Amino acid sequence: MNIHAIQTGTVSIHTAQQEGKGHGASRQLNMLLDRAWTNPLPIYAWAIEHPEGVILVDTGETAQSTRPGYFPRWHPYFLLAVRTHVRPEEEIGPQLRTLGISPTDVRTVVMTHLHTDHAGGLRSFPKSEILVARGEYNRAAGFKVILNGYPSNRWPSWFTPTSISFMTMRPEPFGPFGESVKVTRAGDVTIIPTPGHTPAHVSVVVQDGGDTIFLAGDVSYTQALMLRERVDGVAPDEAVARETLGKVRDFVLAQPTVYVTAHDPESSVRLAKRAIVKVA
Ligand SMILES: [Zn+2]
Repeated sequence: MNIHAIQTGTVSIHTAQQEGKGHGASRQLNMLLDRAWTNPLPIYAWAIEHPEGVILVDTGETAQSTRPGYFPRWHPYFLLAVRTHVRPEEEIGPQLRTLGISPTDVRTVVMTHLHTDHAGGLRSFPKSEILVARGEYNRAAGFKVILNGYPSNRWPSWFTPTSISFMTMRPEPFGPFGESVKVTRAGDVTIIPTPGHTPAHVSVVVQDGGDTIFLAGDVSYTQALMLRERVDGVAPDEAVARETLGKVRDFVLAQPTVYVTAHDPESSVRLAKRAIVKVA
């Protein structure tokens, strides 16, 4: 099946967000106060042209996010630690149309998590079923939302996602992951819990013939950081994040897997070549 990497602009972040520095509260403080910036990193979403209908994983960022006042001005993260560039034609809606996919062809959208650069394109999919882990939605829609870095006031008014834990299928173990849910009747697209970057973050594994493609969201910023099991600068619980990184590493080394993340500059190349994870 065709899996498209859709780059919705770029984001620059502090290097101490990409790879955490220090432990405990100082890791998150170091991330905010770091003065070193990454190069502009891609913001990827993924479109899976599945025989049962198009499935998206994440929706990328919106061009509106580059307008002054889109994010709360007082928020330390948006003020100090992130620079986003998205042109209107880089949004996911126009890019899908260029690929010949109408947004109404999108059957299901799986959200790895609800951070702004994954949820920015939601408004293009009012007719699609949108799957979000219950814990992620509660965290993003709850009282502390803005502090947690979710600009939920920018969500479309119709946004009432389906909770992944409400799906009818019984959760089953999947490799080292204790539970999983299938998105397709064919059983070839699977959601697994990958908590760390956010407490209820999920990933999607596509099995396409002999290929296994791991769409990892923000499990890690790059493949190398996953292999080194390096926790990022934003994960609220370091131990949880490290446990997930270990499971993902075990998974991709146990069976040939193409591993792609939302912000790894090499993701689209690896996907196009179906290049499996190799340990140097
Ligand atoms: Zn994120």
